[in-house]
Amino acid sequence: MSLMLDIKKIADTTAPNLIRSIKMDDIKNWKDLNRDSPISQHLYFDELDDHMTGVSIIAFQYNLDYPDVPKGCMSISPYYYFSNQYYRCYNPLLKELSLTGKIKILKDTHLKSLANLSGIGYYGKNSIIHNELFGSRFFMIALGVYEEIDWNGLNLEASDCSSCKLCVQACPTQALDKPYVLSRQQCLRHYMLTGVEVPEEYKPLMADRLVGCDICQKACPKNIKESGLEKMPDYDREVFHIERYMVNDSSRFNQMMPQLAEWIGKNYARANRVREQCNIIYSNIKKGGD
Ligand code: SF4
Ligand code: SF4
Repeated sequence: MSLMLDIKKIADTTAPNLIRSIKMDDIKNWKDLNRDSPISQHLYFDELDDHMTGVSIIAFQYNLDYPDVPKGCMSISPYYYFSNQYYRCYNPLLKELSLTGKIKILKDTHLKSLANLSGIGYYGKNSIIHNELFGSRFFMIALGVYEEIDWNGLNLEASDCSSCKLCVQACPTQALDKPYVLSRQQCLRHYMLTGVEVPEEYKPLMADRLVGCDICQKACPKNIKESGLEKMPDYDREVFHIERYMVNDSSRFNQMMPQLAEWIGKNYARANRVREQCNIIYSNIKKGGD
């Protein structure tokens, strides 16, 4: 079977998807000619090697609709739920394929630049990639490829937002005031489960969110079209009720992490970070009169 068929089969097993592949020579030539562009400055080749013929980007679609949040519970963005579920599906299969020496799973590459160049989508003013098919409701991975396959040409359009500014206006912290450039220090997501100290003025704006914000994505007209995909399951009160996390006993707190990891993945379900975010959420829920 051809390599692209192998990759497509794994992607189809995981979720609805879009795959674009670009040649290494095209990427390098483009970078040489566009050294001053912001996209070019994000393209780095540390993980890519001389034997790679190119890179394939896979976008996996998911449903961004949140379930209702039960009283006294915290919420998570469906992005984290689905990326965790999808990872469990594709990762063992791709690892197996990588053992053949035909691909390498790239872990430290700038996905958005490659996605834009490959035609997976355009940069939005919210600095997220979107396309007509999925909006911005997708999760991406990149594979280095070691064979000649059918390549896509480079996409040279950076954005299709035109005069729209809905995401810029919707952001509660003005993190998008410089369009296409996210001010990380002003983005609520930057402070959730990352270990970075949260500025006092941002704490109330986090409301009941454990991880994820999505306000700028929900405002985007590219995401209006129904995805037709299943929504994330209802929040399990056993996992998301905030009172459960208000315990001083560290070992009891640690014991709750595997259950939470089922929803958001092990990388995010780290006790010290979850505890900090839970304290913020608890205070917000109490102030809200729960
Ligand atoms: S995720 Fe939230 S805080 Fe961050 S840019 Fe979007 S709307 Fe603003
Ligand atoms: S809301 Fe408008 S400006 Fe923002 S990403 Fe979507 S189309 Fe672009």
